[in-house]
This record gives sequence, structure tokens and C-alpha cells, in this order.
Amino acid sequence: MATATTSVLAKAVTGGSFLIEERQPSDIFTPEDFSDEQRQIAETAAQFAANEVLPATDEIEAKHFDVTRGLLKKAGDLGLMAVDVPEDYGGLAMDKVTSAIIADRMSVLASFSVAFSAHVGIGTLPIVWYGTDSQKEKYLPRLASGEWIAAYALSEASSGSDAMNIRTRAVLSDDGQHYILNGEKMWITNAGFADLYTVFAKIADPKDPDPSKTKMSAFLIERNTPGLTVGAEEHKLGIRGSSTCPLILSDCKVPAENLLGEAGKGHHIAFNILNIGRFKLGAACLGGARTSLGNGIKYAKDRKAFGKSISDFGLIQQKLADSTARIFVGEAMTYRTVGMIDAALATIPENEAHNSREIQKRIEEYAVECSILKVWGSEMLDAVVDHVVQIYAGYGYVQEYPAERA
Ligand SMILES: Cc1cc2nc3c(=O)[nH]c(=O)nc-3n(C[C@H](O)[C@H](O)[C@H](O)COP(=O)(O)OP(=O)(O)OC[C@H]3O[C@@H](n4cnc5c(N)ncnc54)[C@H](O)[C@@H]3O)c2cc1C
Repeated sequence: MATATTSVLAKAVTGGSFLIEERQPSDIFTPEDFSDEQRQIAETAAQFAANEVLPATDEIEAKHFDVTRGLLKKAGDLGLMAVDVPEDYGGLAMDKVTSAIIADRMSVLASFSVAFSAHVGIGTLPIVWYGTDSQKEKYLPRLASGEWIAAYALSEASSGSDAMNIRTRAVLSDDGQHYILNGEKMWITNAGFADLYTVFAKIADPKDPDPSKTKMSAFLIERNTPGLTVGAEEHKLGIRGSSTCPLILSDCKVPAENLLGEAGKGHHIAFNILNIGRFKLGAACLGGARTSLGNGIKYAKDRKAFGKSISDFGLIQQKLADSTARIFVGEAMTYRTVGMIDAALATIPENEAHNSREIQKRIEEYAVECSILKVWGSEMLDAVVDHVVQIYAGYGYVQEYPAERA
């Protein structure tokens, strides 16, 4: 499986080995190693974010989801949602560095970035990796083009971290044609306007009430399926322009062929999709932090106090310098990790190139690095945004300014 980054890395290294082995410079991927194609895609994503997403900020933040959907469609037209989708199903099947570059460069407005990331990640990947050929044929071209938007529904009011404890139940109809789902999902990103939901439920035998015999499973549910209702939007502390709603399943009649993967193996889908998304979350945090720092620098230069730009004051410079250092580290960590993932993916034999288990195994190898990216990246973003709020001072507390939104 050839990727654009393979030529620059000497070899695939073992995940977590940075703790115990010495690395050679040739084992380490950096943004300086981006290929011309990757640079071009970075530019396309950055231009789209600057020229299309940012001008629509007020409408997005006001939950005008027709605007968000229109932008997602435009991103689809540019190929920005097709990178992780196989070519046979309308995708571009590109390397993970490119996927991270897009997550990074698209992250200029958190509300939009969350909608975009949820669609291309937890929304689309369950079908890429676990769908049957006919599920892929039916859904992936629409998702890659942005014609349809996807969501992932695992959490419930009484089970978040403890996801195996979900209460939603699925029962196969007597004729074997449908699963009947009952339950309620909560906090589902993109739910307000999505067309397709990956919903997790436990298949139960109505004649055997023993809960230990239920089978955790995943189902593809289209928006207009009878018995599916989307609840009211949550009003959140942040990412206010992203859609987050409950889903109510009341005798929801799902065709049996919409079972995703194997009955009883839904937890593999649920957790693998979340685990594998970690590196992109790090990349999205990087883009968010870079955008925040850019705003902070601009404001610090423009804002005058005591007859000077506040950027002349040492304490303001210290905040900008600290933010810059953190972003530099975050960028190095992100692309080093994703470069390693691509080098490992390149070791997949040609005849196994589409074997999703092989792809997942290679990515899982870097669970330590990906977890660092998720946790450290989120905290880096938090620290940078906090500095920038301080630089904006009173204006950092007011909704119309980007520091408050961040
Ligand atoms: C904006 C937003 C969007 C979301 N989007 C989606 C989505 O698209 N799809 C979806 O399925 N879900 C989504 N979620 C749900 C999210 O995944 C859950 O909020 C998350 O899993 C945590 O669950 P909880 O909120 O019920 O917290 P709980 O699980 O109740 O946790 C409460 C606290 O206890 C801690 N805790 C829990 N277990 C342990 C433990 N074993 N040891 C130590 N501490 C522990 C937690 O860290 C937390 O601090 C979203 C949530 C939000 C806020």
C-alpha cells in the first residue's frame, strides 16, 4: 500500500519505542517532509477555511445548520471529505498525513471543525472499516461527496464512559427482516442534520431476559426510518454552532441488512473507531491553537495601552512565546506520529491493501503516541486559548470575539 510519505521514512518503527530506543533523523517525519501534493491539499484546506468557513462564523455559531451543511457539501466537492474513503466507493484513499493535514488546516472555527471531523471520522469510518460491499456502495459515495452527513450514536443519558452499559435494545422481527430498536441516545454530534446514524444497541432475545446474553451491535439507521426521532438541540458551553441532540428510538424498524459488522461485536466497532480517531483530534487541536495564536498576535499588535501596542509588554510577549513553543511541539508530535503510522501502513502487502483489520492493526501499534496527541493536544489548545483570552482581556469575555468562542 503506497503512500505519499513512505519515501521519506527509512523504516516502520515499533509503537512506543521512542521511550526505549534511539531514533535516527531518517526515522522521523516532520512537516518539512510534506510532499508537493500534501502541500497543495494543505493550501486548499486552509483557503477553504479562510474564505468559506470564517466569513460564515456568525451564521454557524447561531446554529443555522443549512449554512453548515452547505459548507460541508462544498468541502466534499473539493475532495476534503474523501481522503479516508476507498477509491472504489468515490474516495481518494490517501495517506494519514494528508488526513491529519486536513484536520489541522480546517480547524479555524471549532463549531465547524467538530461537525466536519465527526462526519469524516466517527460518522464515515465505521462503514469504511466494517461495512459490507453493498453498505459501502450505498453510503460511502454520498458521505465522501458531502451529499449525506453522518453521525455516531453510542452515548446514552446513563452511560457515557461506561459505554458497554447501554440500554438501547434491538430485537429481530419474527420474519427476520427487521431489527426493532428501542432506547434513547444522547449528545450525538451532527444529529440535528445528519442523514445516517451508526447506532449502537444490544440485540436481545425477548424470550430470554438475561442481560448477560445480549449482544452489543451496531446498526446503520437512515434519518427517515420510522420510529427514529431527533430530539432538541443542546445549548452548550462551547462549540455552540455544532449540532448535539438526543436520538429517540421508539419501535424503530431497521432493515436486517443494516446491521453493521457482526452481531455481538459492536463494541469492537465502537472502541476501534474512537481509538483510531485520536491522532486526528491532536491535529485538529493544533489547527485550533494556531488560529487562536494568530488572533492573539493580531489583537496584541492593534490594541494600544499606555501609548504602545500591548505586544510591546513583556508579559504579553511571554504569552505569545509560550503559545508558539507549545504549537511547535504539538506540530512536531502530530506529524512525527502520523508519519510513523503511514510508514507502518506502507508495510501492508499489496494483496491486503484493503483489509481493514490490517490497517487498524498498524494504527493501533501507535496507541501510546496517539493517546499523547489526544490528551496533550487538548491541553495545549486549552493553554493557548487561555493565553489568548488574557490578551483580549475584557474583549476575551465577549461573544462576538474569537477568543471567547475558542
Ligand atoms: C459536545 C459533545 C459531543 C458529543 N458527541 C458525541 C457523539 O457524537 N456520539 C456519542 O456517542 N457521544 C458523544 N458525546 C458523549 C461523550 O462521549 C460523553 O460525554 C463521554 O463519553 C463521557 O460520558 P458522560 O458525559 O456520561 O460522563 P461520565 O461517564 O458520567 O463521567 C463523569 C465523570 O466521571 C469520570 N469517570 C467515569 N468513569 C471513570 C473511571 N472508570 N475512572 C475515573 N473516572 C471516571 C469521567 O472522566 C468524568 O469526569 C458528546 C458529548 C459532548 C459534550
